[in-house]
Amino acid sequence: MNFTEVDKLLTTDKNICITAHYRPDGDAIGSSMGLYHFLKNKGCENVRVVMPSDFAKNLKWVVDANKIVIHNPDSVKARKAIAKADILFCLDYNEPKRVGGLEEDLVNAKAIKILIDHHPNPDKEFAQHIFSDISYSSTCEMIHFFIENTGNAHLYNQTIAECLYMGILTDTGGFRYATSKRLMETAGYLLEVGVNDSFIINKVFDSNPVDKIMFMGHCLGNQMEVLRNLRTSIIYATEKDFERFNYQPGFTDGIVNQALGIENIVCSVFVSPDKNFTKLSFRSKGNFAVNEIAKKYFNGGGHRNAAGGRSEVSVTETIVKLKTILQEYKDDLLTTKR
Ligand code: 5GP
Ligand code: MN
Repeated sequence: MNFTEVDKLLTTDKNICITAHYRPDGDAIGSSMGLYHFLKNKGCENVRVVMPSDFAKNLKWVVDANKIVIHNPDSVKARKAIAKADILFCLDYNEPKRVGGLEEDLVNAKAIKILIDHHPNPDKEFAQHIFSDISYSSTCEMIHFFIENTGNAHLYNQTIAECLYMGILTDTGGFRYATSKRLMETAGYLLEVGVNDSFIINKVFDSNPVDKIMFMGHCLGNQMEVLRNLRTSIIYATEKDFERFNYQPGFTDGIVNQALGIENIVCSVFVSPDKNFTKLSFRSKGNFAVNEIAKKYFNGGGHRNAAGGRSEVSVTETIVKLKTILQEYKDDLLTTKR
């Protein structure tokens, strides 16, 4: 990406639309809202943030989160914002397939597209300006780099910093994964701008509804299978569980990481029902690349140690299929260093 050229595009008269991936997580919301507040500070009046689906309550404390247009239920508004945009930001996803029901709208949009993302294999045909780099912990860390390298660091404020800090926190699991000197320096910068880190940790990690913790306990206690001979754990949830524990977006977040905390385990999978398909969430340790499995067998992708995918069959049938696939990776699983 030529940062100077992109900065010149961001004039105050432009209609700007910011999008992120389906089932937006802390990094998707944090990077979108951080960029939103930055553009507002830059004087851009017409900026809209559009998400393909709703997101967890623990991300809704962000300033102006209530202004985000969500495709379901606000389909007309979401599609209109994309259609009339001069500039479209595509954050935290590498290809239009990741935005679910808005895929066609995005592909057909007349806008200049700017993709900022840390997943492997960006779709180079999709966007005119691409800042893609898997060495970044999060898209939020990249937005910080973007603001600095477009010469706009003077526009920083506490709200922007809070949004970016949130996404860094969630994508690194509280500074546990994908850390680097650069990341810590960025985090330090955000603290200097005015982030209160314990406030954000409380909002993001420690404000769960009781139902979510009970749901997690139920899945871990009753629906986890540890395959010692494959160093893998598989957890599942059912529609019935969702009803019983009053499911809300974000309820399944974090379960898959818990099972990775078991001694000697190098791969953890969470399988749960989604709208018209079964969703798989993968986590791994070391060099075991779960994004390859997600891509090859489950129409998905992601990072080496955190990936996702989908299957067209039931949760139970998906687990059977998964176990067969894992056998193929047995040697890798057994030799992976944690
Ligand atoms: P999660 O398990 O938290 O839903 O997702 C973990 C990682 O995998 C995230 O980086 C996310 O972007 C990626 N991911 C999740 N689901 C999918 C999917 O269906 N397709 C692709 N390509 N990536 C996914
Ligand atoms: Mn991310």
